[in-house]
Amino acid sequence: MRRVSRRIQLGDVAIGGDAPISVQSMCSTSTADVPATLDQITRLADAGCEIVRCAVPDEEAARALAAIRSSCPIPLVADIHFDYRLAMTALHSGVDGLRLNPGNIGARWKVEEVVKACAERRVPIRIGVNSGSLEKELLERYGHPTAEAMVQSALGHIRILEDLDFRDIKVSLKASDIRRTVEAYRLLAAQVDYPLHIGITEAGTTWSGTVKSAVGIGTLLYDGIGDTLRVSLTGDPVEEVRVGWEILKALELRRRGPIFVSCPTCGRCQIDLISVAEEVEQRLHDLPLSITVAVMGCVVNGPGEAREADLGIAGGKGQGLLFRRGEIVRKVPQAELADALVTEAWKLVDEEGGDD
Ligand code: SF4
Repeated sequence: MRRVSRRIQLGDVAIGGDAPISVQSMCSTSTADVPATLDQITRLADAGCEIVRCAVPDEEAARALAAIRSSCPIPLVADIHFDYRLAMTALHSGVDGLRLNPGNIGARWKVEEVVKACAERRVPIRIGVNSGSLEKELLERYGHPTAEAMVQSALGHIRILEDLDFRDIKVSLKASDIRRTVEAYRLLAAQVDYPLHIGITEAGTTWSGTVKSAVGIGTLLYDGIGDTLRVSLTGDPVEEVRVGWEILKALELRRRGPIFVSCPTCGRCQIDLISVAEEVEQRLHDLPLSITVAVMGCVVNGPGEAREADLGIAGGKGQGLLFRRGEIVRKVPQAELADALVTEAWKLVDEEGGDD
């Protein structure tokens, strides 16, 4: 069951409560380069990104946020470290959210100024604890950046905001290893009701980072923990969004586009199933309809799976049977299988209308 969390609002996206678990990412462009950043945001939004964050390392980047915000189709979050002036410029630029650790920006009056400006604009703050940048006192007390130390860090930042009567908060607790991350989120989830932004930080390249993120984020989501997620990959951030969606789809928490089922093939398979499956997945990736598509190699499990799916292929000798909603449509030669399935998928979109 999903953990009960407080609901906050980030632009037009709700986070926490019973709001859908949102998928977010972060631009890898220089924020000061407005055209490149907007171009990347457009690609991210097209892939299903619902919230985007930009790094704000200096005033130039903070000022660029105004132009980015005016053309950004999804809520925009400014990622600030240490300098409250950057937070103030970002807020004046109209950002929808801040990622900022209040304990790291110095004197109390600076925190008060930022929090007051956030409260006036109803801009939430994400406290983002990272195992690589824990406070010195906590490292001394715990010896290492343990899960408990991460949670104590988060609670410290939370207290600062609560003392100022500010509760539009979400929290992340990221370590680059799964066990510590999961443990930290479980500990914090039992102590506060703020919505949680989950992810495995610095997870690795697209291949290894996808596996780590799927295991870590998947474990948390299966526990009911997590209100918004970011997959961190060393690669094109569009891949982060695709992987995020696949994780949510795999756990049946959200629907977006097709869910693919295909068999691993074996000695019974008498068609080139791998290339058919790859082509189908690639060509239907952006289909605007939430359907199950099964591509199966032979008559052992093929007809069963293909019949259960919305669309399916069950391979035979040099040909396959095409199924639609449990009924055989026709026999198709191997060379035309991918085309036939893709055509049938678009027919469904035409007949039923695509998803929103
Ligand atoms: S569906 Fe057929 S070809 Fe595919 S793995 Fe199963 S038995 Fe093998």
